Amino acid sequence: MSQHYLPQIARIEDKNGENAPYCPVCGQPTIKFIDNQQDINYKPCQHLVFIYVNEIDEFEYKSKDFKKRIKKLYSFADDDYFDLNEEVLSTMGYDDSLLVLEITVESMACGPTSSTMIFAFDFGYEEDD
Ligand SMILES: [Zn+2]
Repeated sequence: MSQHYLPQIARIEDKNGENAPYCPVCGQPTIKFIDNQQDINYKPCQHLVFIYVNEIDEFEYKSKDFKKRIKKLYSFADDDYFDLNEEVLSTMGYDDSLLVLEITVESMACGPTSSTMIFAFDFGYEEDD
C-alpha cells in the first residue's frame, strides 16, 4: 500500500481577531495590539509591505518603499483608486518574491461577522546602503 500525503491547507483561525500573522521571513509580529484592541502599535519589520483592510478599502499600513511606488504609479499621490491585484503590483515593480496573504477572520460580535485583511511581505527586500 502506497503512502498518501494529503494536500495541506493553511488556515489562520483567530476567533478574537487579536493576532496578526508573523512575518514569514524573519518571524516578527506584524501588529501589536495595545490595551483592549483600541490602539494598534505597528512594529513592522522591514519585510512588511502593506496591510490592507477589505471592508473599508483602505491601507492600515504602508512601508516607505511602498508609498514611493504608489506615488510613482499615481502622480496625484492618492491611493483612493488603488485596485489591489497582481497586475497593479507587477506594474509597481513587484515580482514573485512578494507574498500576499489574504486572511479572513470570523468573529462573533452581534452575530457572526468576518473581516478580511491582506498582508504583503517582500521576500526580496534588500536594505538600501
Ligand atoms: Zn520580517
